[in-house]
Amino acid sequence: MKLFAVIGLGRFGSSVARTLESLGHQVLGIDRNPARVAQMRHELTDVRQLDATDEEHLRELGVANFDAVVVAIGHNLAASVLCTLLLKELGAAWVVAKASSPIHAKLLTKVGADKVIQPEWEMGCRVAHHLLSGTALDSLELGPDYRVLEVAAAPVMFGRSLRDLNLRARLGLNVMAIKRGEDVIVNPGPDEVIQAGDFLVVMGDAGSLRRLNEMERD
Ligand code: ATP
Repeated sequence: MKLFAVIGLGRFGSSVARTLESLGHQVLGIDRNPARVAQMRHELTDVRQLDATDEEHLRELGVANFDAVVVAIGHNLAASVLCTLLLKELGAAWVVAKASSPIHAKLLTKVGADKVIQPEWEMGCRVAHHLLSGTALDSLELGPDYRVLEVAAAPVMFGRSLRDLNLRARLGLNVMAIKRGEDVIVNPGPDEVIQAGDFLVVMGDAGSLRRLNEMERD
């Protein structure tokens, strides 16, 4: 079980927080708006109403103890950047921050966000990709443990063959297909080389998919 904090309980933040909680993790939800906090009170392990740009408030939370902190303040650029900066200064290990524009994303990276996401933009790319490839495959559960997932190839994989990457032995993952533009390479052989922009259809259990996720962060 992991410990997360989600700052900003709008549509995006509350969805992240609820999902983590439903997957059995502990989530502290934070928002400066009392109505948002009240809405989430019974759904999360804990909630706090505070201004996340206040250094003292953040210090009292002990942000370094969380496995990850999600900054889900999208539209208030100054608040989101300041909050991210303070979190990193206070020792937060992994900060994922939501950006609402490319310049916002740039600022978040500059102040130390470990991962910056642009949900609308990323979702738009995925929808376009799915429309073109003609598949609706996103994530498919195979019983309680196994899952088939489509993931973007990580930059560390570019230019390397499947044999070299050795994902089966290293991560316990099977690459079932590679989507490259409009082509789909089903059952790729060991000499297949991953290219920038490839999508991999992989099968694995929660542990192997988590390790893949960690690889994507590197
Ligand atoms: P979403 O697109 O996720 O629905 P939104 O459009 O409601 O978000 P945002 O400006 O992205 O609005 O803010 C998300 C949440 O972050 C809101 O509930 C807002 O109250 C909260 N928030 C904004 N600034 C701060 C702050 N400084 N401290 C704490 N919470 C904040």
